[in-house]
Amino acid sequence: MTAPPGMIDSFGRRITYVRMSVTDRCDLRCRYCMAERMLFLPKKEILSLEEIIALSDTFIARGVNRIRLTGGEPLVRRGIMELVRGLGERVGHGLDELTLTTNGTQLEKMGAGLFAAGVRRVNISLDSRDPERFGYITRRGDLGQVLRGIAAVRDAGLKVKINMVALARLNADEIEGMLLWCEREGHDLTLIETMPLGEVEEDRTDHYLPLDAVKRELERRYRFKPSFRRTGGPARYFEIEGMRVRLGLITPLTGTFCAGCNRIRVAATGTVYGCLGHDQKVELRDLLRTGGVGAVNDALDELLAGKPKGHDFQIAAAAPAVQRHMSVTGG
Ligand code: SAM
Ligand code: SF4
Repeated sequence: MTAPPGMIDSFGRRITYVRMSVTDRCDLRCRYCMAERMLFLPKKEILSLEEIIALSDTFIARGVNRIRLTGGEPLVRRGIMELVRGLGERVGHGLDELTLTTNGTQLEKMGAGLFAAGVRRVNISLDSRDPERFGYITRRGDLGQVLRGIAAVRDAGLKVKINMVALARLNADEIEGMLLWCEREGHDLTLIETMPLGEVEEDRTDHYLPLDAVKRELERRYRFKPSFRRTGGPARYFEIEGMRVRLGLITPLTGTFCAGCNRIRVAATGTVYGCLGHDQKVELRDLLRTGGVGAVNDALDELLAGKPKGHDFQIAAAAPAVQRHMSVTGG
């Protein structure tokens, strides 16, 4: 039997990276991400752990070498460590890297287990280091719990990258402090612009903070050097003279990064999206349940043929670019 071909889209972009949402549920309700009263999907609509592994194997067979588990909050999914261990066994056997994006609430008890399973890097969201503000932005988060979780994974030997959504009047004044804290703690920092994904109660324009302005302000005191590191993702990375922290800027609204896109996104339901900012998709859940690997591969070919050239986010547009929330697609 011939090996299935690699995944190359109609613009010649090779897909080697999959972001896999393992649940749409979350124990927090960050204001820019979710509505206070979110309706979550029934369990039968969500891929089982076995289906996630089978789908991952199909991706790996087609040249995917990095998988990132995300959500919702991936670590609140029942059996998540079983899944991490299962996928961890593929690292070095097709996969180069297994990573996670998490809000950190469950990390205190999981650091050593993640390391043992083969995870070496995690992205952890932290929008404020002020307990009250953290509670306000996340609508229910306990800052101390998250900080203990971050320390636990760092102590277990994992490299931490902090994700901070930059929010005017909510945390803009904490950005420099966060950079210095990351420097002290040995973490990297990525700042993210709010993206118009799904309806939330807030008006995102109220808190939209363009990162080019943040960068100009920081450059009055720090000397930035563009880093050659490219991940095929939306972040541009910078080294800072005299510091070890690396700063990433994710600027979907002020910058474009689509030409080098190497990724697709799998929602917890098995819907696969070609682009975060479009509805172009294929549904794999029923094919995984009844159609077999050939049918899944045919659907992936269809996705690749139609993968959009790029997104078109506009923060001031009346409606979100897409109706689904980041927690559904997997941020
Ligand atoms: N729950 C995990 C977490 O918070 O890290 C993983 C999922 S979350 C959807 C992934 C990332 O997306 C987080 O860093 C979060 O801050 C970011 N995010 C969520 N909604 C966003 C939005 N509308 N615009 C920009 N970033 C968003
Ligand atoms: Fe949950 Fe992450 Fe969304 Fe916050 S950003 S509500 S932690 S999924």
